[in-house]
This record gives sequence, C-alpha cells and structure tokens, in this order.
Amino acid sequence: IVEYKDVHKSFGEVEVLKGINLDIYPGEKIAVIGPSGSGKTTIIRMLMTLEEPTSGDIYVDGKNLWKMEKNGEMVRANEKHLREIRSDIGMVFQHFNLFPHMTILENCMTAPIHVKKEDKEEVRERSIHMLERVGLGDKLNNYPSQLSGGQKQRVAMARALVMRPKIMLFDEVTSALDPELVGEVLEVIRDLAKHEDMAMVLVTHEMDFALDIADKVLFLDKGIIAEQGTAREVIEQSDNARLQEFLRRFR
Ligand code: ATP
Repeated sequence: IVEYKDVHKSFGEVEVLKGINLDIYPGEKIAVIGPSGSGKTTIIRMLMTLEEPTSGDIYVDGKNLWKMEKNGEMVRANEKHLREIRSDIGMVFQHFNLFPHMTILENCMTAPIHVKKEDKEEVRERSIHMLERVGLGDKLNNYPSQLSGGQKQRVAMARALVMRPKIMLFDEVTSALDPELVGEVLEVIRDLAKHEDMAMVLVTHEMDFALDIADKVLFLDKGIIAEQGTAREVIEQSDNARLQEFLRRFR
C-alpha cells in the first residue's frame, strides 16, 4: 500500500536520505532500526507529509503524495486528495500530542467526527471500544493531565486506531517514557501486531521487541537501507559490520 521510489531528502547541505526504495504491503509489520541520525524519523514523517522529499516519489495506494513542479520544488498533492490518503494512515509520536482541554474519550472522538464527518454515536462506541482495548476503559472521562505517560501514550494509540487506518506509524513511542512505563505500551503494540491486520511501521530502539513482532526489519545507516529482511536474516545472518556493532550496543 506504500511505495518509496528513490527518495532523497536533504536539510540544507546535508543529505539525510540517499535514495530510499521501500514497499510496504497490506498488513505487514516493519521495524526500522539504526543509529541516531540515520534518517528513521524522516522516512515516516514524509509519509505523513510533515516533511517533503528533495526528490523521488512516495505512493500511498497508488497515489503520489508529492509532485515536482517545473521550478524543481516539491509540492504536496491537493488537499482533498491528501485528506483521503492521510485518513488511511495513523501516527503515534514520541510525545503524545493529546488535546489537554478534552477528556480522553473526546480526544478519540474528535477527528472521526470533525474530519471524517462520521456519526457521533457510532464514533463514541468505537472510541470506547478502542480505549478498553488499550486498557483504559475506566478513564474515559479523565483529562490527559490526570494520566501517566504510559497511559497517555495508550490514549494516543486508541485515538489513531479509531480512524481505522490501513497503516499505523509508531515513532519511538516509548523513548520519552519512564522505564517502568515502557512495558505496558509495548504490550499494547504487541497485541495490535498480533490481532490487527493493518500494516505497522515501528521506529524503535527496543530491539528485542521489534525483532519479536516484525515481519521485516530495515537497518538504516547513513541515509540508506543498508540491510533488510526477516528478523532472523538481519540479526543472525547478516555480516554487515556496522549492523553488528549497532546491535551490540542496543541489545
Ligand atoms: P534518532 O534515532 O536520533 O531519532 P533518526 O534516525 O530518527 O534519529 P532523523 O530524525 O530522521 O534521524 O534525522 C536524520 C538527520 O536529519 C539528523 O542528523 C537530524 O539532525 C537531521 N534533521 C532532521 N530534521 C531536521 C530539520 N527539520 N532540519 C534540519 N535537520 C534535520
């Protein structure tokens, strides 16, 4: 459902991504690992159109997210088109980005009602179901400030799931959490990976976890996909020296 074709990205003089080619198939669970600064976050931010590629194409369901203008500038697809594409993609960030003035139930309900114009009662039911799914069925009317970091992150996941995305992006979702809260968030992701048929892309430093749930592992190094394959292939069978060194540090 997603295809990157020779995608490059520079920030000023620095080329952060140097030709990314990547297919994401429906239902596929992908872990993106790699050293700090290798471009992991940039890859998924481009899919959310939060960052434009310098060159190359990104297709979602066959539709191009960006196009090159005659003057060489990359512009996004038109807003209507983009809204359609984006409604297929859910993203959970390192910082939870919840609306502080809304209860957690309202946080989950707002996008489907206001962006997708869905029926309010149906959305309410689905939101409650998703909040129960992430273990927060007893906190529906609490405000984000009343929750722990791990709970907030689980709300962020429920909120993304209520949109019924075809693909969910997780950008280092546990790295801002206190260590004792990491487990509960990983557990929810593990459960989703097992039982939901949406595609998932996880940028993570939780190596053993990623390897455990991923169908495919990408090792990003200096702006290229240096290794990719099943967890087994990447971890046990690769003789890439930089990957070995990286794994020694993170496992
Ligand atoms: P980390 O694991 O540390 O989050 P990462 O692999 O996710 O790293 P990115 O966040 O994608 O890496 O960043 C890749 C490089 O691009 C980094 O060197 C970063 O400093 C640079 N970069 C990212 N965003 C910007 C920006 N908006 N302006 C300038 N440079 C940027």
